[in-house]
Amino acid sequence: MTHPASIVIVGEAIAGLSAARELRRRGYDGSVTMIGREVEGAYARPPLSKGVLRNPAAETTLAYPQADLDLDLVRSPAVVLDTAARVVATADGRAVPYDALLVATGATARRLASPAQRGERVLRTLEDARLIREGIRRSKTAIVVGAGFLGMEVASAFVASGVEVTVVDTEPLLRRVLGSYLSDRLAERAARHDVRLLHASGPVELSGDPVNGVTLPGGTTLTADLVVTCAGDIPAVGWLAGTGLADRLGVAIDERCATAIPGVFAAGDVAYLVPREGDPARRTPYWSNAVAQGKVAAASMLGEPSEQGPTDDYFWTEILGLAIKVAGPLPVDGPPASVEGDLDAGDATLRWDAPGTASTVVAYGRKIPVGRLRAMTRQPYRPEARGRSGRNSEPGEPSD
Ligand SMILES: Cc1cc2nc3c(=O)[nH]c(=O)nc-3n(C[C@H](O)[C@H](O)[C@H](O)COP(=O)(O)OP(=O)(O)OC[C@H]3O[C@@H](n4cnc5c(N)ncnc54)[C@H](O)[C@@H]3O)c2cc1C
Repeated sequence: MTHPASIVIVGEAIAGLSAARELRRRGYDGSVTMIGREVEGAYARPPLSKGVLRNPAAETTLAYPQADLDLDLVRSPAVVLDTAARVVATADGRAVPYDALLVATGATARRLASPAQRGERVLRTLEDARLIREGIRRSKTAIVVGAGFLGMEVASAFVASGVEVTVVDTEPLLRRVLGSYLSDRLAERAARHDVRLLHASGPVELSGDPVNGVTLPGGTTLTADLVVTCAGDIPAVGWLAGTGLADRLGVAIDERCATAIPGVFAAGDVAYLVPREGDPARRTPYWSNAVAQGKVAAASMLGEPSEQGPTDDYFWTEILGLAIKVAGPLPVDGPPASVEGDLDAGDATLRWDAPGTASTVVAYGRKIPVGRLRAMTRQPYRPEARGRSGRNSEPGEPSD
């Protein structure tokens, strides 16, 4: 099959760069134009909450190498897509034609402030991280809205900086993703680190202008020196208006990362895979997934098959000094099929099995190489070598 003469990638971050790298790896030597909107160029987001909030020096580790990819860079946001003419218009007035297009514009942080309310802090960009870091320097107390991965990472940065933190959510910490068993263990860990977890009976509102607190559904208002909203993200699809490519969830893609419009592909946080019958439609806004989809989209743009699928179930986070790696389908629910090691000591492996699908394996503070963790999801359950790190507990048994 003939390769497209020109490929345009909109979104200069991990999904877009994974696609560009894969195009070159496959020997594509045509024109690749990358349209990005961040003045700093491409950078990794996971270290923003794990390193940059605490340490300005961590900023030097964020950049993605790309000099070897021979890209034509346009650093101005895409504002309009004309799928009939196959042209992307940018804010600085350029019209960039394409034969194949990759939509990789990711997501933006969901905000809770009213339009007139100033000073809401979120964490999605390097600039956001710098603003929060500056806020930490001046704060003794903080509120985090949202007890998901990001909210708990931000809370961890506050704890490490000696800031007293309250995390507010309508649901228990990470229960929707990691299930009640791990949610309870992490809540115990949070208590040991003096993180106050506050259950809200419904959505909270930000109070103050500039924002200096939250109002709970009953009318009680809590205030703090710093308030950070970590309430999810919204696919960045504004520039696709009128194309029919985007809906509420983002850009729908098939197993090849192709959209409904010929020549247009999508990958990463902006995209969602059209589910198999019966499965709920949802995005999977994780780093490994963005890498996988970038690679699959690259193969598809060249009309070639991909060795891998458009999902990668690996995820990691760091909560209150504990590295948690997860491989396999999420969410999990109910007690794990097995727990080995010592959860209190932050050295355990947990496993959830489900019929007809890969298992989910969690390395809870335990150093397990990612490749091995992935392999464990495909293996029938086999206990690890015992005695390595203390006692082994059974499913559902408290790990005291
Ligand atoms: C603080 C933080 C910590 C995280 N930690 C983890 C973690 O520990 N583990 C994990 O698996 N995942 C983590 N994630 C999620 C992970 O970073 C994302 O899944 C990943 O960044 C998605 O990559 P992407 O390329 O699809 O989108 P993005 O990273 O959102 O990049 C999209 C790019 O497109 C650009 N763009 C948007 N609109 C336009 C436009 N109109 N024109 C041109 N460019 C545009 C944006 O500026 C951006 O540079 C974290 C995310 C954040 C914010």
